[in-house]
Amino acid sequence: MSSGAKLIALIEATLRAATPEARDFFAREHEAARKLLRAGQSAAAVADVTLRAADRLEPLVADLTRAHPPACGAGCSRCCHGLKIEASAVEAVAIAEFLSGLTPDELAATREQMREEAEYARTLDAGARWREQVPCAFLEDATGECVIYDVRPLTCRAHTSMSVERCEAAALDPERRTPIDKHLVPASVFGMAKAAITMACAEAQLDPRSFELTNAVSVALNEPRAAERWRAGERVFDAAVTPSDEADAELSLRDLSRAGLLPAASLLKRPLDRTERNAAKRERRGRRQGS
Ligand code: SF4
Repeated sequence: MSSGAKLIALIEATLRAATPEARDFFAREHEAARKLLRAGQSAAAVADVTLRAADRLEPLVADLTRAHPPACGAGCSRCCHGLKIEASAVEAVAIAEFLSGLTPDELAATREQMREEAEYARTLDAGARWREQVPCAFLEDATGECVIYDVRPLTCRAHTSMSVERCEAAALDPERRTPIDKHLVPASVFGMAKAAITMACAEAQLDPRSFELTNAVSVALNEPRAAERWRAGERVFDAAVTPSDEADAELSLRDLSRAGLLPAASLLKRPLDRTERNAAKRERRGRRQGS
């Protein structure tokens, strides 16, 4: 199965278990992404596919969370540590377009820095990142701010928490893997939007994969005409694949499946074993009792 076909199958499996409202939302985002992909071939047009979705959905999420907002306070960058953030081609292009506004000297330095960050990232799998609480390359150490905040990936927008205490406990003792109490509204809205863009890309025979963030941005910044070549169907982002991507993706699918968020265990390479199935059942039972 090609990567595009596999991603479409996963998204379709998730949609089958979604509510009618969620499916309608997905259909609208999918249509918006298809239209934008048809709108142009330039880097700016490619970037628009994700930036327009973010512009449209940020106010919606703000509205939907007004009564019960996330606990994340201004300046908190807890979730910018320890996670393997991924970016699709359109997101990497949007970040590269944003950085292209730097002065020529700054841009040259950023290109070099991205090459080095990408090389370092290739030595880390998701487990090592978490254990060592590795900060994101785009986090400004001194201020704790994201230097690409306006164009950050949808995955970053999806990550918010209902409990600062849980985030701190998780970071203080990474080995315990304290579950983060994620706010479900941003997670669902931006997660669905990302899935809709992924599906629109796959259907248009464009590389729909997501890649480790710094490797994806390094390709978008350093490969000549990366955006236009991706838009023409070239797999220019093959260079962004890292040695642990496959194992990390498998682990992440397994976590989602175990949590009952992805009814696609049969699509995994290895079906869940009995211990994992029992853990999944316990989690689902716990959620039902808690709701
Ligand atoms: S891109 Fe920005 S928001 Fe996302 S993890 Fe990195 S610093 Fe945090």
